[in-house]
Amino acid sequence: MDRYPLYGRLFCGCGQRFVPGSSTAPGREYVSLCGCRLWPINAAVIEQRVYAYASSGSSASEFDAAPAVVAAVLSQFGERIEVGGTLDDIRFMRPT
Ligand SMILES: [Zn+2]
Repeated sequence: MDRYPLYGRLFCGCGQRFVPGSSTAPGREYVSLCGCRLWPINAAVIEQRVYAYASSGSSASEFDAAPAVVAAVLSQFGERIEVGGTLDDIRFMRPT
């Protein structure tokens, strides 16, 4: 699942896990099967937000310039990520 570095850590507010989307649209997305969200999550958008959080606010330009660095940061990010109704509603939950 290299192309989906957040797979397994991304959860809906209801507790359902997001999985890689299977649509044929260009780009990557995460979807949940619970029906809380009408639309898939744009993978690049959520990964950039998580990366900014995990790297204490690194710039978006770094996100674009160094995908290997980004993948490494995201793969080591251990917190559970809950996404609410919008991508502005993201909660990071430390593992207990
Ligand atoms: Zn849900």
